[in-house]
Amino acid sequence: MVRRLTAVEIVCVGEELLDGSVVNTNAVYLGSRLHELGFRVRAVHTVGDRVEEIDETIRQSLSRVKVVIVTGGLGPTGDDLTREAVCSALGLSLQFRPQLWDSTRQLYCRRGGIPQEEDLRQARLPQGASPLPNSVGTAPGFWLRWQQKLLICLPGPPHELRTMWTEHAEKVLLSQLPGERPRPAPTMTLRVCGMGEAQVQHRISQISLTGVEVGIYSFPGEIQVRLTATQPGPRGQEQLARAEANLRAALGDHVFGVDEQTLPAALGARLVQRQLTLATAESVTGGRVADLIVSAPGASRYFLGGVVAYDQETKRCLLGVGPDLLERYGPVSPEVSEAMARGVARLLGADVSLALTGLAGPGREEDGRPVGTVYACLLGPWGTKLRERWYPGPRELVRQRAAMESLAWLYLTLQRLT
Ligand code: ATP
Ligand code: MG
Repeated sequence: MVRRLTAVEIVCVGEELLDGSVVNTNAVYLGSRLHELGFRVRAVHTVGDRVEEIDETIRQSLSRVKVVIVTGGLGPTGDDLTREAVCSALGLSLQFRPQLWDSTRQLYCRRGGIPQEEDLRQARLPQGASPLPNSVGTAPGFWLRWQQKLLICLPGPPHELRTMWTEHAEKVLLSQLPGERPRPAPTMTLRVCGMGEAQVQHRISQISLTGVEVGIYSFPGEIQVRLTATQPGPRGQEQLARAEANLRAALGDHVFGVDEQTLPAALGARLVQRQLTLATAESVTGGRVADLIVSAPGASRYFLGGVVAYDQETKRCLLGVGPDLLERYGPVSPEVSEAMARGVARLLGADVSLALTGLAGPGREEDGRPVGTVYACLLGPWGTKLRERWYPGPRELVRQRAAMESLAWLYLTLQRLT
């Protein structure tokens, strides 16, 4: 039997979320917390700072689902209209709460400031609403029951929202819906490298996965396959374990980890296991590969260091890349990537070296090579490996993908080393 999850809708208030000047991280945070608790987020709505639009969205959401969570618009300024909109949606009036006003004044006193008349707005809540204390800001949140439904309003600033959620709102949610308190759905994320999204999808379509919902998400250099069991508790854990085994068989050694295990950490574990040291030489990625490598704790056990050799003279002085080579093949060439890898292995005495050179753009092609071309060379016990990639897209993405995919390449090479 597939269990029915309590549905939630999230309403994010703020003009800045609509015009693209602020990324809606509150929706991401609440979505993942609610999912982990076993609720189903049915929709996320974003609305501007207008009472009638907030009012209409809240009313419609309450007509569809049991729980509605609103974020933003609780501050003291004229464009903070969530309180008014809730009153107009539910036919309530605003009530002044002397206790809230006292705590606002005490907060100002502790901070050495004076409350303004505008702050009075924050001491008014819809009738029947219970306040949610704000331990890191001035605007309180609030919650209320309305016709068997639950409405929770939280402040917009992300750190205030998160603090209020963990300190108060989550408890209110779970205690107000005891009969429906869901048992968390077991979930797991398999992390995959060295394969595209379509390839992962194709392999998954060849196997039978029952008892789990599957989501495939693409990130630069990595694909994540998220599994959610359809049943709670131990039955769900069994479903997950079965699905994981099937998926691992289908995706082979491309699965480098689960959940929080990162590619740099998986790569580090392989290097330690093989007792190999690593050095990098980077032109196009400007140190990003080294930065990723040291993001794994304990990287000093295998990472000797890296050289950022952006300028031709630096390539020559530090890595010994000959001017004739640069002249004959151009700085963006397999020959130069190989000379860089050899140079850094020699300089630092590393067992394995990785070098990248490329054209991140923007601009035109150079020496007949299109923008987005990246050459990489991998030296190690396997000998010399060279590869050419073309990454379409803006400069940042070219550099990020080139860095991540070179790590994936190194990881798979080490995996397959016999
Ligand atoms: P304040 O007291 O700061 O006015 P508020 O509850 O009224 O709090 P807003 O005015 O809506 O909240 O937003 C305050 C700030 O929080 C905004 O400047 C914005 O940067 C940030 N913010 C609001 N909503 C979101 C969101 N959904 N995701 C990320 N940041 C947000
Ligand atoms: Mg505000």
